[in-house]
Amino acid sequence: MKAKQRIVDLPVYKPGKPIEEVKKELGLKNIIKLASNENPYGCSPKVNEAVIAELEQTNMYPDGASSKLRQALAAHLNIEENQFIFGAGSDDVLLMICRAYLEAGDETVMATPTFPQYKHNAEIEGAVSIEVPLNNGNHDLPAMAKAITEKTKIVWVCNPNNPTGTMVSHEELVEFMQQIPTHILVVIDEAYVEYNYNNKQFPRSLELLQQYDNMMILRTFSKIYGLAAHRIGYGIANSHVIQTVNQVREPFNTTRFAQAAAIAAIRDQAFVTTCCHKNEEGIHYLSQQFNRLKLQYFPAHGNFIMVHLDRPAEAVFEYLLSQGIIVRGGNYLGYPTSIRVTVGTQEQNVAFITALEKTLQHISPV
Ligand SMILES: *Cc1c(COP(=O)(O)O)cnc(C)c1O
Repeated sequence: MKAKQRIVDLPVYKPGKPIEEVKKELGLKNIIKLASNENPYGCSPKVNEAVIAELEQTNMYPDGASSKLRQALAAHLNIEENQFIFGAGSDDVLLMICRAYLEAGDETVMATPTFPQYKHNAEIEGAVSIEVPLNNGNHDLPAMAKAITEKTKIVWVCNPNNPTGTMVSHEELVEFMQQIPTHILVVIDEAYVEYNYNNKQFPRSLELLQQYDNMMILRTFSKIYGLAAHRIGYGIANSHVIQTVNQVREPFNTTRFAQAAAIAAIRDQAFVTTCCHKNEEGIHYLSQQFNRLKLQYFPAHGNFIMVHLDRPAEAVFEYLLSQGIIVRGGNYLGYPTSIRVTVGTQEQNVAFITALEKTLQHISPV
């Protein structure tokens, strides 16, 4: 059998190591996973109640249109119901965007390093990714605007950027949008938006949607809402863009359980606020510790920090792993001497710093 030529050499996503696997391999009892930016506080207790109630209808297909979730989210964000599309995580939504808009030979502009799924899905469609290097960890929006040609169909802005955690401000985004031709779709990936509720500089992207018909926002329940296992995320855009993307959506692409979980999660904003505060304390603690250890790091605007260790990331990763801490090695992320660490609970953060100090003594700088 002959596979489609353009998929055979695609890199396969390397997930953070699963906890159970590491426990077995190393014979360790306690493992702390700070690799995938999951919420260390779990999810709202209301979520599991809602999911359990839904189990009675396991034999029934979910509502393909996610109507109840759509209503709940529309009310919560003050957006029209026909401006949403739901997916099995925002990964699914960005796949649908690529499927709906990209043809072989089209170009799509993105930063590098950034979230790998933009390029991955673009390549599956045969589109060419134009990767514009970050400028000191930040999106170089002027350079990205210059990279646009008549072949460009989609531009991706990951805000805050994964893996660096850096942020594009409201003013920067507006200035950028003004330069982008209106037939090009600009996708703003806001997987960590909720962590920025207190940040006046963070783009008021929902407001900008009213002005820019060619903008789409991606959000998820996987991060602060703590529903990563359920696979539910969404896109927000003007209703014409939503209709186009909806053409390629699988009929039942989100589960009954995920929809119920997301509704319950939206209703418990106290949980979200608490997680935000604890995350801020965690960032403050980790930053202080990095300062004490004389380590540079990018300013963090999500629930993760990229810290520069001046040591080979692979070796650092292995040494931290041997102490029961899983992080993300920068060697996979375009920063071969850095690591990306998720902000954990205070107890996890302290354990991480203790292990990191040992690691710095054990592995010499390059
Ligand atoms: C985690 C993440 C996503 C995708 O999360 P889903 O679980 O698929 O909703 C998308 N973009 C960025 C930048 C992320 O970090």
